[in-house]
Amino acid sequence: MIKVSNLRKVYSTGSVAVEALKGVTLTMHKGEFVAVMGPSGSGKSTFMNLLGLLDTPTSGNYWLEEREVSSLNKNELASLRNQKLGFVFQAFNLIPALTALKNVELPMLYAGVKPQERRQRALLALEKVGLGERLQHRPNELSGGQNQRVAIARAIVNRPSVIMADEPTGALDTKTGEEIMEIFEELHREGTTIVLVTHEPDIAKHAKRILRFKDGLLIRDEEVTNRTISS
Ligand code: ADP
Ligand code: ADP
Repeated sequence: MIKVSNLRKVYSTGSVAVEALKGVTLTMHKGEFVAVMGPSGSGKSTFMNLLGLLDTPTSGNYWLEEREVSSLNKNELASLRNQKLGFVFQAFNLIPALTALKNVELPMLYAGVKPQERRQRALLALEKVGLGERLQHRPNELSGGQNQRVAIARAIVNRPSVIMADEPTGALDTKTGEEIMEIFEELHREGTTIVLVTHEPDIAKHAKRILRFKDGLLIRDEEVTNRTISS
């Protein structure tokens, strides 16, 4: 369902060009749970930005559910992004002035869902992540783990086929991080594809497959077993 072939990205600033991705080829099937690892500067963010339709490759191809998307324009990318993808970030990226409920309703506002259905679906999403009792709280009235639950509810509310998570446990303590990973495991069991960037082996081991990047290349691609888990 996600296929990339020879994906390259060159950033040019003035006379300086950086080849951040040097030709990455891989396939992810529907429902896979994939962790992306590698040192700082290895191309993980660039790869995630391309998969997340936030940027376009310099060359190469990207098929998202049969559709070749590498040359779509900004509007087409945005619309596909809203339909197919959900995002979770390290810093939650919630809107401070809005309640949990309103934060989760926001993506549906952009998608043109009617108010009553927005409310209903936001409620269900918040209940699903265990926050049914915190609907009217604002981000500064919630813990880090609770805010990340709100962010996950926001990511799933348009029923995306893929969730892209960038260091989702990076700002959380170990126990809270494990609780958040259990939510991703549940979404995986329900058939959502999950692509997760992490530098923590204990977080990566929740995935079923690990991609390791180095210097803009995919240097390892392996199933998760006890043996494969190391930073
Ligand atoms: P990672 O997420 O693994 O830390 P990045 O994808 O952010 O790696 O970066 C890969 C390389 O591309 C690095 O050399 C980085 O400095 C460079 N890079 C990333 N984004 C940009 C950008 N917007 N402009 C110029 N260079 C960039
Ligand atoms: P992380 O590795 O924590 O994901 P990075 O430091 O790689 O974050 O990148 C943070 C942001 O800065 C990204 O949006 C990336 O595209 C941008 N960036 C990274 N390196 C450069 C660079 N050399 N020039 C311009 N922008 C960059």
